[in-house]
Parts: sequence; structure tokens; C-alpha cells
Amino acid sequence: SQSFVESPYVKQMAKITQLLYRHGWDERNGGNVSYRLTEDEVKPYGDVHKVLRNIPIDFDASPLAGTYFLVTGTGRYFKNIIDYPQRDTGLVRITPDGHSVDLLWGFCDGGLPTSEFPAHLMTHIERLKVDNKQRVVMHCHPTNLIALSFTMPLDEKTISRILWKMQAESIVVFPEGIGVLPYMTPGTNEIGAATAKKMAKYRLVLWPHHGIFASGDSIDEEFGLIETVEKAANIFTTIRAQGGRIRDEITDENLAQLAKRFDLTPTPEFMHG
Ligand code: 13P
Ligand code: ZN
Repeated sequence: SQSFVESPYVKQMAKITQLLYRHGWDERNGGNVSYRLTEDEVKPYGDVHKVLRNIPIDFDASPLAGTYFLVTGTGRYFKNIIDYPQRDTGLVRITPDGHSVDLLWGFCDGGLPTSEFPAHLMTHIERLKVDNKQRVVMHCHPTNLIALSFTMPLDEKTISRILWKMQAESIVVFPEGIGVLPYMTPGTNEIGAATAKKMAKYRLVLWPHHGIFASGDSIDEEFGLIETVEKAANIFTTIRAQGGRIRDEITDENLAQLAKRFDLTPTPEFMHG
């Protein structure tokens, strides 16, 4: 039988982490990705049926008991995953009591899932309530978006409207807008719980002075969400570099026209200043 390293899941993970690195959004060990897989998807591979190690997690992931995740390792560099997927990523299954995971493949030098695994799993739990096709959670450090979190008010309406008005496509890609947390300590259950709470409404959550969390049905969709947000933030930076005075803009009326044309239901409070 085929080896899991040859699976499309590992290939997609290696490819996307490399792309994220090349964008400059995942310096050093920055960023993490988790990809939910089904039993049927995992079963055909010969080398994923033995539990290699049990790894404790210190919160209750029991709503995901039996679920498989391909996840990036803590401290591992996205630039390297393409060459060492079996070392820098792992396939885990949540145990029945939800307080540990069984490692089935990968992390071959003793590695562990990302320090943001609580935020990932809590996000999967929350998104699965609103979207049964929920698959991927992606976290990275997009430069212009992080910069914007230092200069603009950290409220959801303000940030969503800035991003929507930087390019016509923003509202089409994320009509619900973007969730915004206060600055919080990374790698904690607290930031995980706060992120997951926002995910009930948003697929994107800004972590000020740190980065972004995104959720959705595929690696491509996640990457597309983050790309679109960061492109908008890049335009914002560029406008300021050109002197900052806006002479012509996407108006509230233009936003309403986009919503009509693309049959969107944007967050109503964000449609007017
Ligand atoms: P990990 O190396 O534990 O995945 O952490 C990287 C990161 O970006 C933390 O927010
Ligand atoms: Zn981070």
C-alpha cells in the first residue's frame, strides 16, 4: 500500500507552507496549519494504522474525538516542510476522552503539534457547528495587516471597512468582515477560546501585533482569504507611502452595489460609516 507521505494531503501541506514562507508571512517557525481528514481518506495508507506515541493536550477536545488532523509541528520552519514533511508535520487522532492525541505518522524526530493547537482545535469545533465541510485552520504573520494593527483602532467595524474599501474584491471574498481580538498571549487556551468565539461569525480573526487566523473548507480557500486581506492591507500601506490623501474612494454606495451584484449578505452594521 501507499505511504502517507505520498498522499495529496501531505503534498498540499508542503506546497502551501512553502508558498506562505515565500510570501514572507512565516519567518522562522512562524505560522501553523491544521487539516482535518476523515477515516476514509486516511485508511488507504499502510503506514498510519499504528499508534506511535500518545501526546497529552491540556484542554477538552472531546467534541472532536476520533477526528484526524494533519498538523504542523511546534518550532518547525515552514521553509523546511517541503523537504522534511515526515519530520515537521504529523498525523494525529483525537482520543475518546479528548485530553490527548494519538500520533499515527510524522514528527519522526520527537516533534509535537503546534503551540497554537488549542486555538486550532477550538476553531475547528466552533466552525463545524456552522459548516460541516470545515477542514482547515491556517495561522500566519502577514506584514501589512500586522502593521495596520498598530496604527488603526482595533474594532471590527473599522478594520473590516478599511479592508473592504482598499479593493473591490475584499467584500466579495469576506462579506462577513474580519473579527478582531485585543492583544493576547499566543499559545494559550485563552487566545484559543477567544478566537473560536469569534469564529462563530467570522472566518478571519486578526490577532493584533501578531497575525491572522483563518478557517474554511480547503487549503486553497484559506490561503485565498489571507491573500485577499493582506493585499488590501498592502494597498493601505502603499496609499500612506504615497502621501496618504485619498482623492477618490470605494464609497458605501459602491459596497452596496457589490453586495447586490454578487448576491452577498455583508454584516449590515459595517455597510455604513
Ligand atoms: P509554533 O511553532 O508553535 O507553531 O508557533 C508559531 C506561531 O506562529 C505562534 O503563534
Ligand atoms: Zn504566530
